[in-house]
Amino acid sequence: MTGHGTTAYQLDPDHLAELLPGEPRYRTDQLREWLYRHPVLEPEEMTNLPGAVRERIRGRLWPFTLEIEQSADDGRTRKWLFRTPDGASIEAVLMGYRKRTTLCISSQAGCAMACTFCATGQFGFERHLDAGEIVAQVTYANAALRRNPIPGSPERVTNVVFMGMGEPLANYTYLRDSLHRMIDVIDMAARSVTVSTVGVVPGIRKLADEPWQVGLAISLHAADDELRDTLIPLNKRYPLDELIAAARYFFETTGRRISIEWTMMDGVNDTPEQAKKLAEISRRLRAHINVISLNPTPLTSHRRPGRLAIQDFMTRLEEHGANATYRETRGQDIDAACGQLRIRGAEQKGTT
Ligand code: SF4
Repeated sequence: MTGHGTTAYQLDPDHLAELLPGEPRYRTDQLREWLYRHPVLEPEEMTNLPGAVRERIRGRLWPFTLEIEQSADDGRTRKWLFRTPDGASIEAVLMGYRKRTTLCISSQAGCAMACTFCATGQFGFERHLDAGEIVAQVTYANAALRRNPIPGSPERVTNVVFMGMGEPLANYTYLRDSLHRMIDVIDMAARSVTVSTVGVVPGIRKLADEPWQVGLAISLHAADDELRDTLIPLNKRYPLDELIAAARYFFETTGRRISIEWTMMDGVNDTPEQAKKLAEISRRLRAHINVISLNPTPLTSHRRPGRLAIQDFMTRLEEHGANATYRETRGQDIDAACGQLRIRGAEQKGTT
């Protein structure tokens, strides 16, 4: 259990009776249904629970409160900044597409990895999020969608990506528990959940050995150790050869194709040489490459490349036999890159 208050999502779904002492078993089963299968924003909406039971849950439903909500792309992108009672910030971004509703979630408050291009990395590490704080981002989104769906998109979260704040594989125990709840309790398809890592090699191997076929995204951003060491300090601990070997192990063990994430930075990793090396790595791993441009932040010095540089890079990847897609970043006008809403929250509180 966590040391900062027990809310419904912070209890193991099998131990909800602790929240409702003296109530019959079927009441905790009903509560479990509301929490995971039909989540609602307020206990009042749990219509088959008696008023006294709802009263007990009041104030103990969510492990966080909503501090900022922003929307962009005509309401198809929504970004939330949540705050926990001990002051930790949690960011999640909801994106509606025609056939999927994707939620990008955080696994830690802050991050210890200190990647040079990332706003979250510049703040340093606050603490791990527990399994309830991780999974409640998904159930909150489902509850919010129930009230206010995104027109033309599925009315539930269909895909979860761990690409918000934090390095999920550095928080393995709680990551694992949150995956268990998403897949075994909420009943999401394992294949629609993607864990993203900058290269925590032992975590990749452990995840490969889990019973679920979740997806793995490697945030590569540099295709040789020399450059990667300068962008992602963790690379010094787990250099590329080890990372690629672990990624291969994941692919061979789970049968799931890996994706490589590549955030283009002007004059840094947009060179012909990097394109060639990246294509080689992707061929070795039979991985798909997702390229995006950096969303610059006031805290980092890197810039996004121009349109021609992006086109040139994509053409080179193709010429070298890579399978790659360039994606526009969603919600640029709402600080959609990880860590940016948190800066806004801090500014509003006058702490930065
Ligand atoms: S890019 Fe990811 S791993 Fe690196 S500092 Fe940012 S949140 Fe942490």
